[in-house]
Amino acid sequence: MHTHYDFALRGRIFTFRANPFTVGDEASYHYYEDGVLLIKLDKIVDVGSYQDFELLEQKVIQFDKNYIIMPSFIDSHLHYPQWEAIGGFGEDLLQWLDKYAFKAEAKYHDINYAKAQAKQFLLNLIDNGITAAGVYCSSHPESVEALFEAADEANLHITAGQVWMDRHAPKSIIRPAKQSYDETLALIEKWHNHGNLRYALTPRFPITSSEEQLELAQALVKKYPDLTIQSHIDENSQEVAKTLELFPKAKSYADIFDQYNLLTPRTVLGHGNLLSEEEINLLADRKSSIAHCPSSNEFLGNTPLNLFGLQCQRPDLNISLASDIGAGTSLCPWHTMAAAYRASRSHRHALSPIKALYLHTLGGAESLSIDQITGKFAPGYQADIAIINTHATRALSQRMQTVENLDEEFFVLMTLGEASTIDRLYVSGVKLK
Ligand SMILES: [Zn+2]
Repeated sequence: MHTHYDFALRGRIFTFRANPFTVGDEASYHYYEDGVLLIKLDKIVDVGSYQDFELLEQKVIQFDKNYIIMPSFIDSHLHYPQWEAIGGFGEDLLQWLDKYAFKAEAKYHDINYAKAQAKQFLLNLIDNGITAAGVYCSSHPESVEALFEAADEANLHITAGQVWMDRHAPKSIIRPAKQSYDETLALIEKWHNHGNLRYALTPRFPITSSEEQLELAQALVKKYPDLTIQSHIDENSQEVAKTLELFPKAKSYADIFDQYNLLTPRTVLGHGNLLSEEEINLLADRKSSIAHCPSSNEFLGNTPLNLFGLQCQRPDLNISLASDIGAGTSLCPWHTMAAAYRASRSHRHALSPIKALYLHTLGGAESLSIDQITGKFAPGYQADIAIINTHATRALSQRMQTVENLDEEFFVLMTLGEASTIDRLYVSGVKLK
């Protein structure tokens, strides 16, 4: 049986099968103490207990009990041209954008610079075990070309787009609405659904998009209904006040997007820290999702997202975890999960490690509408696999000696884990690390 595979990974295997926020932690995953994952070409053939399979020994790669074989990570919201803005000191969101982020993004009109940075950015994703991401480029089409070209070579699941801005930002990064529209059309025709790449219509936020631009966004979504739409919402009070001042007729921040039919099941909105009850209902009704960016919120001094408050009100609202580089402080998924835990503590809740892990794997796949192809181990899914060394550092090795169960093990990884825990990484069955 099961002779149709190229190789098998044997060891401790963990994968989600359902959403822990709805079914509870225990019922949300499969865990095989002595498991096996069969891979053929770019796909998973099967997963289960080793004893249920008859395998050719020479095709089996075995990992001891210090390793966990699990689906690789998904980061649903980050800005690759903000690498140079990481660690920009001492400002709130709008001032931070002006002082650090916009200056960094202005450099990406240069295709050669963008190409070099895109390659480094993708290597950073791979270092951290991330094989799928929702990425904001700069407002220059060159930045999108550079990223898609490099991502295509590595076969990563990248959903990305040119940032649209036609006002309230430096000249070097704003463009007339029609120009961005025409450039985006060409980028969609070239890259959308090419291999693992998907195009995301990316109006930065309503402050920097005129009504004309939002109308063009609406027209583009009508033309390409399967486009992801990514933007920001309700990040801090100064930004919300400025937004509502610019759109006096809107009932709320979310209502601005809704007026232009930009809240779809493929919409991913970053932050959502200050969402009102009406907005939470509107987003859930439209099946849009929130990318929770906890380290970025901490760094900028934003009010932390009340994840459990949102979940209590609307358990059907999809939420995922994201680094939000460059306001985020780390690409490392353990760091982001730990920040999400701290955010939950600030609201007197405690985000469990299983839930945090879900938000950064299958939950992320759902938000980016790629949950039918990646984010878990099941027959026919792409072989996107992270092999975690739970003893990768001296601190982890010492602490793991007294860990008693899987939950505790993941929580220690969240607390002490570094990129070095990613021992191996496979994308579509190809070993990248
Ligand atoms: Zn962002």
